[in-house]
Amino acid sequence: MSNSEPEAKWPNRRLRAMARRFPVGGALTAVFLAASPFSGFLYRNRELVSAADLWRYVVLYVGALLAVVVGISLVFGKRTGSRWSFLLGWCACGMFWYRDVKSFADGFFLTKSLPVVGPVIWVFITFLVSILIYRLCERSWFPIAGVLFSLTLAILPIGQYVAFTVATENYGAETLDSITGQDRGWESQPDIYFLLVDGFGRQDVLKEMFDIDTSGFEAELRRNGFVVADRALGAHPMTWLSVPAIFDQEYQALPGDQGKPATQIRQDAILAGGSRTHQILKANGYHFVTAATAWGPFCDPSPISEVEDCVNKRPYIDAALKDAYVRYQLAFMTPVLPLSRASFLPEAVGAMWEGPKLLEDPTTVGGKAFLTSDVLDVVDAAQARDDSIPLFVFGHMWYTHPPFTLGPKCEFRTRGVPSLGGDWADVSGYQAGIDCAIMQILELISEVDPSAVIVVQSDHGPVREKIESPDDVAGLGEKDVQSELLWGRASVFSAVRLPEHCRSFVSDTYAGINTFKVVFDCLEGSPTPQISERSYWAWWNSRRVVDLTDRLRTYEASLDLARHGADPARD
Ligand SMILES: [Zn+2]
Repeated sequence: MSNSEPEAKWPNRRLRAMARRFPVGGALTAVFLAASPFSGFLYRNRELVSAADLWRYVVLYVGALLAVVVGISLVFGKRTGSRWSFLLGWCACGMFWYRDVKSFADGFFLTKSLPVVGPVIWVFITFLVSILIYRLCERSWFPIAGVLFSLTLAILPIGQYVAFTVATENYGAETLDSITGQDRGWESQPDIYFLLVDGFGRQDVLKEMFDIDTSGFEAELRRNGFVVADRALGAHPMTWLSVPAIFDQEYQALPGDQGKPATQIRQDAILAGGSRTHQILKANGYHFVTAATAWGPFCDPSPISEVEDCVNKRPYIDAALKDAYVRYQLAFMTPVLPLSRASFLPEAVGAMWEGPKLLEDPTTVGGKAFLTSDVLDVVDAAQARDDSIPLFVFGHMWYTHPPFTLGPKCEFRTRGVPSLGGDWADVSGYQAGIDCAIMQILELISEVDPSAVIVVQSDHGPVREKIESPDDVAGLGEKDVQSELLWGRASVFSAVRLPEHCRSFVSDTYAGINTFKVVFDCLEGSPTPQISERSYWAWWNSRRVVDLTDRLRTYEASLDLARHGADPARD
């Protein structure tokens, strides 16, 4: 009996000895520091990414770091272990700092001519902080300060994310009013096509900001019976507000107390098929054909599901695309991409993080999901089933939205995709996307029934640089950079082909909440002049909504004045 006692105590004592060697404060700091970029990422991408998409990367990253820290502590003792915990934790966090430091460094005029300065400054700052940590980490206050600091860094975004999720759930309880008795007997029921060209700029915006000329395209549309509304403004400058505004024929965000919706739940339900427009069409016996990328909520279960064909419903590819997107966005924050592109990393390692292969896969059309021919195939099949049923065909075309993966003939433009969150600064890519979109639109127009109603409209224009502070729009009206940015983003391309007797009722600002009012009034046989619409500005980083309409009009007038002033032939 007596010799069993030390045996039982032995592992205990050994564990205790190990625990004594283990730097608790350091290890906790390392874990929180390594996890903090992920929690920040989760909150920043909360609309698109959930904890379920991220946990594997967190476990892998934090787990690997913890294993190293434990190993060092066991071999070299607590003091060394503690020091290396702080250092490695800092480096693990600093990895994800790379893009911020680089864009900060790129901002300096001195560094613009030296392409490697970004990485050098990042290495320098990381090194400097490491030395500081090395010198300070033996102070008695350091471990507890480290734990508290890193805990805050890791937990704060999680708290914000949880608050967001709770708000989302409460918001979900609010349902859409169902619209009934809207069948007011239309005079005719032509097929209706709605081509939503995401990010396709208005013609004067493209000319002014990008030197892209679309006058040939407009002329072609006019030859085909379209009215091009060359002063159109979007109801809102963001897809998830402006497209629901079009479909529900209502503004989604208003100045004052209402502001911007806290979440996208209601907007998603509208897009999926719950809108006023969908309900009226359904009541009039329309069948729906929906073509969209995997990103949007289109073609989700909705009040129209039983009368809807989806052009691409491929959950497996959608999930893989999303996974690749998350992986790529994570890698984009670190030096992994530049290192792999400069061949400093083994090819297999680099390939894991490089541009999602699926975006270059023909079955996803470079991530844009479909071409006109795919839509027409589904239309043909629906008409073959029963050609007495009118069709409402919706295509969310992404060719003019970054990343620009397609060339002017909609072929794959490059291998390797640039920043997925990128903007419209890649002018040649944008030009290619515009050419591709024009080609697809004109192909559709030439293939479908000449009596079909066709709406071609963008949800918002391009942005060339990041709009940092949309709250600060007071200066709009003067010709400065910020004004041009807001004007470019708020203006939309908009054109419609109605039955001939309605065309004169379409105003030069036709867009937004009037889009389907005008179409339906015409089909009812009572075309009426539209109420002029507003452009309510809302942006990602603020709940505030600002009515920009008058200021955008003033800005346009100042552009006109500048142009005419330079032209002596016009007074
Ligand atoms: Zn958009």
